[in-house]
Amino acid sequence: MSSAPDGKKLVRSPSGLRMVPENGAFNSPFSLDEPQWVPDKECPRCMQCDTKFDFITRKHHCRRCGKCFCDKCCSKKVALQRMCFVDPVRQCAECGLISQKEAEFYDKQLKVLMTGATFLVTLGTSEKSETMVCRLSNNHRYLFLDGESHFEVELSRISSMQVLTEGSPPGDKDIHTYTSLLESPYISEGSSSPASSMMLRYKTVGSRDLQNLRLEATDDRKTASVWLAAMHKAAKLLYESRDQ
Ligand SMILES: [Zn+2]
Ligand SMILES: [Zn+2]
Repeated sequence: MSSAPDGKKLVRSPSGLRMVPENGAFNSPFSLDEPQWVPDKECPRCMQCDTKFDFITRKHHCRRCGKCFCDKCCSKKVALQRMCFVDPVRQCAECGLISQKEAEFYDKQLKVLMTGATFLVTLGTSEKSETMVCRLSNNHRYLFLDGESHFEVELSRISSMQVLTEGSPPGDKDIHTYTSLLESPYISEGSSSPASSMMLRYKTVGSRDLQNLRLEATDDRKTASVWLAAMHKAAKLLYESRDQ
């Protein structure tokens, strides 16, 4: 362990300035690698509108997908937190839309997750539950659970996640599993059946066994359901990062 595990450094890439953890092992689990740029000689025409590049029509690379576009098809500069860019960077229309949605995650849901919410927590097959505050760590890498006891779950060790909505027992079609997130609509804040609990399976350190963890909304159900909806959105981003 370095003395400053959350230390950051500024690096310059062809796409712009990036603020990244000093130790790559401490990358945010939501982060994405920069794409390889399509080589200049492989793209004589804009990959969107098919305009031929020449001395006047210059080519630009989208910083998110690395493809080649004319200025018209790749003019927008959009924040791209997942690649740790300090400033908004040039992106194609498709990527720009995705990045804009993610900016909303960084502005809203990520803050909700780091603030935390109170749940009734059951670990494994234990009969006992404990009231604990669950929150995402500042570096986004852990879920911290604090009650009379404390433990943490590393996000990279989570193998499956289910967010359950009110009134739906496990096994119901309303369950949104970690792997089916790409097809499922978001469980949104203020929807008719708010999220009420979450089941996680994760690998514990030094063991290949899977541990079960269940979080259930208790007193402050509103805060808990907003936190769970944010976690649901986070899971989609995690899934994409791992899929890369
Ligand atoms: Zn174009
Ligand atoms: Zn793109």
